Amino acid sequence: MSWGRVLRARHAVARPHWRDELPALVGEGAEAGGKLLAIGLRRSYGDSGLNPDGAVIDMSGLDRAVAFDPETRILRAEAGISLDALLAILVPRGFFLPVTPGTRFVTLGGAVANDVHGKNHHRAGTIGRWVRRLGLLRSDGTAVELGADDNTGLFAATIGGLGLTGLIAWVEIEAMPIASAMMEVETIPFASLDAFFPLAEESDGGFDYTVAWIDCLAAGGALGRGLFSRARHAATGPLAPRKQRRGSSLPFDLPGIALNQLTVSAFNELYYRNGRRKAGRTAMPYEPFFYPLDRIAGWNRMYGRRGLYQYQSVVPPDAAHDATTAMLRAISASGQGSFLAVLKTFGETPSPGMLSFPRSGTTLALDFANRGASTLALMERLDAIVREAGGRLYPAKDGRVPAAMFRAGYPNWQAFARHVDPGFSSSFWRRVSQ
Ligand SMILES: Cc1cc2nc3c(=O)[nH]c(=O)nc-3n(C[C@H](O)[C@H](O)[C@H](O)COP(=O)(O)OP(=O)(O)OC[C@H]3O[C@@H](n4cnc5c(N)ncnc54)[C@H](O)[C@@H]3O)c2cc1C
Repeated sequence: MSWGRVLRARHAVARPHWRDELPALVGEGAEAGGKLLAIGLRRSYGDSGLNPDGAVIDMSGLDRAVAFDPETRILRAEAGISLDALLAILVPRGFFLPVTPGTRFVTLGGAVANDVHGKNHHRAGTIGRWVRRLGLLRSDGTAVELGADDNTGLFAATIGGLGLTGLIAWVEIEAMPIASAMMEVETIPFASLDAFFPLAEESDGGFDYTVAWIDCLAAGGALGRGLFSRARHAATGPLAPRKQRRGSSLPFDLPGIALNQLTVSAFNELYYRNGRRKAGRTAMPYEPFFYPLDRIAGWNRMYGRRGLYQYQSVVPPDAAHDATTAMLRAISASGQGSFLAVLKTFGETPSPGMLSFPRSGTTLALDFANRGASTLALMERLDAIVREAGGRLYPAKDGRVPAAMFRAGYPNWQAFARHVDPGFSSSFWRRVSQ
């Protein structure tokens, strides 16, 4: 099952724990004629980590750090190690991940295969920029070691390559020095979308991390109002990674009705007002800043048995204002609001992967409870706006993008396809490439 829980399928699963198990798993799987796919902690929302007609190799048992050199800052680890485990090694030694997504419960291999981005994209680009070398197992029995100096295209295809170029066995990544585990964070309310863009531009110059939450059900003059957050690692403070208490967990599905328009708009109103009251500067440990959702284990069950869709787009800078306005109007008019509407400007640093999602422009990420046809119809309206603006959707969040829209958004997809390992596949790839 994917993180969005809309798509479910039975799989044959292998769970290796040792590196020397991998060549046989990859080779025999391919010889048996089945298509393989490596998976991590299954935090992708749609079908990029599903492979129902084939088999999956769950890499989360290969979770060891192999070496870390504080001089070169290079850390080598098995691909199934989680970012949580990496932080536990790095932070006490005065280092941090160069790029982190909004959850630390993803594997290093999964993060590389989606070339993930974080709140510091305008400074650091994607995680792939910080990968120094990686080991890839191919279904023809070869084990290749690749770095940015690779001139065959296989490295660029593997970064953000959705697991389709083979199995990533290990990764070497460059860590970033920090002086403290604390963050200096400033929260600034903004009254409408028009105020977001100048605030983002000004903040990207002086802050390592920037992101905004927006109230996507606000309409009229308040369209796009929200809370802008900008932050940097503190210059002083402890390096101990204070363990974030896992708050509650959701052991069962909430009834779908729990998340109707009234609850979303009441939540958004409260969240915005509360944020306005608490606006200003504060110091906090890194966990609540980077990973607020990690506090509630199984938060995706809040959306009920039918699950949720994530919809994350990026549109080029020239089109960003109008396209974002049009998307927010469509969402507000549909009444299908999202609790977790996040807006961020991506910087200009090119992504290293042929299929990497980030490009310069503005990215909007939304969660929609699955209400069947009406939710699909809303996302089709959003598709039309994104396509018209020359933008694209993020495969890690997707389970439904039409093939034509994927191909238009990722013009390198055919060059990428030449590097796809014939022994590997996924539901996502079959859907968009055939
Ligand atoms: C709460 C939340 C917040 C998020 N925030 C962000 C964010 O801010 N930025 C962002 O970019 N993403 C974000 N994501 C998405 C998430 O970072 C990616 O989906 C990530 O790739 C998941 O890693 P995983 O280990 O769970 O991999 P999976 O979801 O299991 O797999 C993801 C892909 O990686 C491939 N893969 C996994 N391991 C290997 C391997 N060893 N070798 C080859 N291929 C492999 C799989 O085949 C699949 O295509 C978020 C997700 C959640 C749930």
